[in-house]
Amino acid sequence: MTDATATADAAELSAAERDRILAKAALFSPPAATLADGRRELVGLSREELVEEMVAIGEKPFRAKQLWHWIYHQGVTDFSRMPTIARTMQAKLEERFVIGRPGVTTEQTSTDGTRKWLFGFRDGQQVETVYIPDEDRGAVCISTQVGCTLSCKFCHTGTQKLVRNLGAAEIVGQFMAARDSYGEWPSPTDGTPRMLSNIVIMGMGEPLYNYENVAKAMRIVMDGEGIGLSKRRITLSTSGVVPMMDKCGAELGVGLAVSLHAVRDEVRDEIVPLNRKYPIDELLAACRRYPGATNARRITFEYVMLKGINDSEADARELVRLIKGIPAKVNLIPFNPWPGSPYETSSNNAIHRFADIVLEAGYASPVRKPRGRDILAACGQLKTESERQRPVRAGAAVMKAAAA
Ligand code: SF4
Repeated sequence: MTDATATADAAELSAAERDRILAKAALFSPPAATLADGRRELVGLSREELVEEMVAIGEKPFRAKQLWHWIYHQGVTDFSRMPTIARTMQAKLEERFVIGRPGVTTEQTSTDGTRKWLFGFRDGQQVETVYIPDEDRGAVCISTQVGCTLSCKFCHTGTQKLVRNLGAAEIVGQFMAARDSYGEWPSPTDGTPRMLSNIVIMGMGEPLYNYENVAKAMRIVMDGEGIGLSKRRITLSTSGVVPMMDKCGAELGVGLAVSLHAVRDEVRDEIVPLNRKYPIDELLAACRRYPGATNARRITFEYVMLKGINDSEADARELVRLIKGIPAKVNLIPFNPWPGSPYETSSNNAIHRFADIVLEAGYASPVRKPRGRDILAACGQLKTESERQRPVRAGAAVMKAAAA
């Protein structure tokens, strides 16, 4: 077989695998975004879909542009608070549509300022979302699935079976509800500092197993006439769904974080079982070709420090060897225990020895300060009580309507 044939075969295999992943994601689709009273949720629609909705009710397409501004720039959830739209039209919209938010089931604020919400959707499913403030900015860590299929061994969410994927409305809705909580509307423009300045897609679930909904939500978030968050402020974290990584980089161009956590396949097979499917060398090859990875936009390798498992000096040296040539930084995460977790946190000494070896090789290796541990909001600690209901009610509405 020639090299060209082998490359073509590999590309075909990868495309087939991508189709398989997308088809599987569709089996866990969120319920339809229509309320029991027949009104349609507007949050989560693309611009084109919003235009279609307006045309379908006999309105001009420019109405969609007006609505987009009120929904995503101003953060308005009530049609009667849209003064550029005539009263009669407001009433017409009110009859047919809602602008929803996830319902806040609980909101907790940690002693270090981290805030965690348990958000509930119309079908009763719940996810957690976390805001991690920094001095003059902060990141919202959003979830993409209720539960997760991947069962990473250090992760609390991984003990909760996948219930379903979140819809675009539920993904973007988490960010919008977090901004409601801090009153950050209208969307700051022209470089005005934002308190909720970044999104990290690192909450519950594997985002590349719910790619279509995540991509749709991120396109909404990035739209300059609405929320207007630049792709540079968005980081998607994957456990290594290799066939979807190129697609994500090419289509969304967001920053990439990879949950590496081990440098040998035997260990990674155990900690991140997805490794049995996409082993370390395939994962790193996908990182090497990730579009847009440069020294100014490095790939983040997440590495949870587990005592006696992956924290030796030899592991650190192997890590440096593996990522050679990739514009990268390594985030070292002291393990955050949760009830029943099988691991212990590495000692401070081990963590700092590890960090020094990586740093000496020329890679930034910050040790992540645990945030929100007192409210179980730290990395890998998120979990809700949601369980899969069979069958998921068809036609149930996705989000709790603010208007309801
Ligand atoms: S680390 Fe991420 S992918 Fe792995 S089980 Fe937890 S939520 Fe799922």
